[in-house]
Amino acid sequence: MERTKCIKCSYESEDNFLKFEIPLCSICYRFSPNTENKFKEYVSEKINSNALDSFRKYSEIGRPQLKGMTLRASQGSQMSRPPFGYKFSEGKLVPAENFREVEELFEEFLTTNISLRQLSQKHNLSVNGLKKILSNFAYIGKVKFNNQIHQGNHQAIISTTLFNHVQNKLDRLRKVNIQQE
Ligand SMILES: [Zn+2]
Repeated sequence: MERTKCIKCSYESEDNFLKFEIPLCSICYRFSPNTENKFKEYVSEKINSNALDSFRKYSEIGRPQLKGMTLRASQGSQMSRPPFGYKFSEGKLVPAENFREVEELFEEFLTTNISLRQLSQKHNLSVNGLKKILSNFAYIGKVKFNNQIHQGNHQAIISTTLFNHVQNKLDRLRKVNIQQE
């Protein structure tokens, strides 16, 4: 395989990725925006590859997974499936027709005493699927990488306040469940 040079940090590797036909190392690739204009802006700001050394060393996301992500990115999406309430449009996450249902779920969970099981059945979801929705940072416009929260490139569909209140209630429920076990 041929070595290419990351256009942003100059890191040379056989495992670099192509995005918008521009070579990027796995780290710069991971943080790159998905719209072409923002992407051009991103790669025009150069950084020193040494600054990313510890990232490279301790990167938790495996290369095979990143390769899959690259492939899918070139097919128009960076995830296998968009979160409930979103869809992919030209490779970008955008609110889907049912996006208001997400807010309804959050509101109903927060303001009523409905159980997770009842709420999931009402909306035709699995309990685990519902839990994933209620704790998904995508809904406030963020993305999670390596257990860190970053600003995403997509539109939020619920408020941060509502999201935080729901996280608090989920935490309380978890504690109650632990005590009952
Ligand atoms: Zn790079």
